Amino acid sequence: MQTVSRKVLGLVLMLGVLLSLTGCRGTVWSKREEVRIGQQVAKEVEATYKLDPNPENQRRVQLIGQRLVAVAGDKDFKYSFKVLAVDEVNAFALPGGPIYVFRGLLEMVGDDDDMLACVLAHEMAHVNQRHAAKQYSKGVWADILITAATRGRVRDVAQLTNLLVQLEYSRRDEYESDRLGIEYAYQAGYDPNGMIRFFQLLRQRERGGDKGILANLRTHPLTENRIWRAQQHIQKVTGKPAEEVRE
Ligand SMILES: [Zn+2]
Repeated sequence: MQTVSRKVLGLVLMLGVLLSLTGCRGTVWSKREEVRIGQQVAKEVEATYKLDPNPENQRRVQLIGQRLVAVAGDKDFKYSFKVLAVDEVNAFALPGGPIYVFRGLLEMVGDDDDMLACVLAHEMAHVNQRHAAKQYSKGVWADILITAATRGRVRDVAQLTNLLVQLEYSRRDEYESDRLGIEYAYQAGYDPNGMIRFFQLLRQRERGGDKGILANLRTHPLTENRIWRAQQHIQKVTGKPAEEVRE
């Protein structure tokens, strides 16, 4: 664990250098810069976490990802969809296109491709809407990096992962990604109710005290309001009432 933490800390510091080379705080990256940053960080992420060696898992997320790109891809971005060999429940997107799910998330969704498509589509919406660049321009990344560098004693990889790959997107950005994710999934031929089923599973897990759910997927802001909004949007998009959440 210790070595991995140190590796990831190196990655955080490298990211800091990258960002400072990219321009001063307040600068919004160009799409090209986003792609470049995303590709470099992706390399480090894959060196740190390792890809899931199961080719079926990789093929599955790639296939779903490509269907989403076909209907909602931005030609300036360079998407990739990969599974990391980590048994926690997590998914995240890097600027400009790289999208990762942890193996633990695949295990959680089982064979429900609609659920998986909704998760990938939500992450893709963060990329398309350039939420990371937006957070960076608000100074969020700088603060995250300073915290990591000065407090230093980061307890575990999960915590660092949160700092690095999970920006605390604003609630508004999360809602936007839910809405767009529902649309992308539907356009690509998946059932957008997968989003509701995913929220439900997450909530059950969390109520059961599962600590393996990382912060960007935890129930904050997985509020009743967020679920309700998603249901409303599914109804709007499909013309049919959304699935109910079973308590
Ligand atoms: Zn999100």
